[in-house]
Amino acid sequence: MTPRPDPLGPSAASWLGDRAYPESQVSYGGATYWLERSADGVKRMVAVANDESTLNRFVGTAETLDDNVRFTAETTADNALALRSALPWLNPSRIGLHTSAGFGDRLGLATPGHVRALNAVAASIRPVFAQQSIREMGRCHRTPRDVLDDATWGAFQAGWTRPVGGDADHLEELEDIDNTVAAGFAFFTLDPKAEVDPEAEYADPATIKAKVEALDWPSLESDLPTFIKTYAGQRIDLQHEAMDLDEESVLRAMAKYGPSLAHAMAMYRRLMEKGADVEVEFAVDETDYPTKPAEHVVVVSELKRLGMDFVSFAPRFVGRFEKGVEYIGDIDGLRRDFEIHAELARALGPYKLSLHSGSDKYSTYPLIAEATNGVVHLKTAGTSWAEALRVIAHNDADLMRQILTLALDSFEANRKSYHLSCDPARIPANPTDEQVGRLMDVVDSRQVLHVGYGAILDEFGSRMYQVWNDNEEEHYRIIADHFVKHVQPFAQYAQ
Ligand SMILES: [Zn+2]
Repeated sequence: MTPRPDPLGPSAASWLGDRAYPESQVSYGGATYWLERSADGVKRMVAVANDESTLNRFVGTAETLDDNVRFTAETTADNALALRSALPWLNPSRIGLHTSAGFGDRLGLATPGHVRALNAVAASIRPVFAQQSIREMGRCHRTPRDVLDDATWGAFQAGWTRPVGGDADHLEELEDIDNTVAAGFAFFTLDPKAEVDPEAEYADPATIKAKVEALDWPSLESDLPTFIKTYAGQRIDLQHEAMDLDEESVLRAMAKYGPSLAHAMAMYRRLMEKGADVEVEFAVDETDYPTKPAEHVVVVSELKRLGMDFVSFAPRFVGRFEKGVEYIGDIDGLRRDFEIHAELARALGPYKLSLHSGSDKYSTYPLIAEATNGVVHLKTAGTSWAEALRVIAHNDADLMRQILTLALDSFEANRKSYHLSCDPARIPANPTDEQVGRLMDVVDSRQVLHVGYGAILDEFGSRMYQVWNDNEEEHYRIIADHFVKHVQPFAQYAQ
C-alpha cells in the first residue's frame, strides 16, 4: 500500500519560519518535517515531534520547544537516507506498467521544477526524479548516492508525497550493478550496446550464417537448430495484422543481438542476486540502426526464455532522436514504427515502450502516447541542464560567453557518443547580450552547450551553482514550463 502523509496538526503552520519552503511541510509517523533555507543559501531539514526518539535516525541538533522537540539536520547523505526512511514515499519503488516519465538532472537542482510540472498537469504519471547514466555520472563527478540524495531533497522541498522511481540508467558493465543497487535505485536500465553487432545489418547471408553459428549458444542455453525451429515461419497475431517471421530475418536479428543478450542476462543475474525489490528496462536505443519488428520479437522472446523479467523495452526507433532538439525524420514513418512496436509490446508482454532521448521531441509525444495507450515510459536526460543554462545567460551574460567559448573549444571531445547535427561554425564567437539570451533556442548552440556539460562544470561549476542558488525561483519556473510541454501530451492516456 502506498504510504500517505498524515494531516498536519493545527499548530504545525505556526512552527514555520519565513525561511521555510512552505510546500515542503509534511507530517508522517509522529513528526512534522520541512526544509528551510538560511540567508546564505544553505538548506536544512527541520522536524518537530513530541517524542525525540521518532527522529533518532537523523544526525543533527535538538532543542525543546513547548512540549515538543525541534530537530535541525544538515542535508547530508546520512540524513537523506534517514529522510527516505521517515517519509517512505521518497524511497524509490517499482513503477510497473503505470505511465511514467524520467527526469534526468545532471545538476541535482532541478527536481522542484519537475515536481511543479507534474503538479500543473495533475495526471497520474509516475515520476523518476533520480535518473542518471553511468557515463553522465562520470562526467559530472557524481556518485549514484549523490543522484538519489539530490532527488530526495528536491522532492521533499517541493512537497512531493506520491511514489517515485529511481533509474540507474544505461548500465553497461557488471560492476555498474553493484553500487547502483547499494545506493537504493529501483529501476535498472540494462544496455548491452557494446555487444550489438552493427555489421549484421547489411552482411550477406553467408556471413550472417557464420555469425549465428559462432554464437556462444551454451551461454544462451539453446542451439541454432532449436532457435530456427522456434522462430522461422512463426506467425504473431497482432491487434490489426499478423506478422510472419522468415528465416533470413530471424537469423539476422540473432546475429545482430545474440552476443548482447548473453551480456544483458549476466547483468540481470547479478542484479537478481542482490535480492532487492527492483525492476528492469532493456535498452538498445543507442545502437546504430533502428530496431526492426522481427528483431524486437527475437530479442524480447529470447530474453523471456532466458528468464529476464523486464517492465520496459527501449528499441531504437526510426529517424533521429538527437540531444535537446525536435525529432528529425518522417513523422508518419515514426507513427507506424511506434504502432508496430506498441502492438508487439502488448502481444509479447505487456511491457512498456520506453522513449529515450525523449526531451524536446514535442511532435512525437501525442503519437507514442496514443500508440501505447499510456503504457509508456518517457525518458529525458540533459534537457534540464540545457534549460538551466538560460538562468546563467539571463543573469550573467559574461559567464555565459566564457561557457560558450569553452564548449566550442572542447566540442570534439564532448560530442563523442552523442548523436548531433549542430554546426559550431554557425555560432557567433563573441555574442552580444541579446545573442547570449537566444543561445538555448538555436539548434547549433543548444547542442554544443548540451554535450559540453562535463568540461563546463569542471571549469565554471562553482560560479554557476552560485547563480542557480541565487535565482532558484527563476530556475524552477523555467524547468516547470519546459516540462509541462513534455508531460501534458501523456496526461489523457496516463494510467
Ligand atoms: Zn537512452
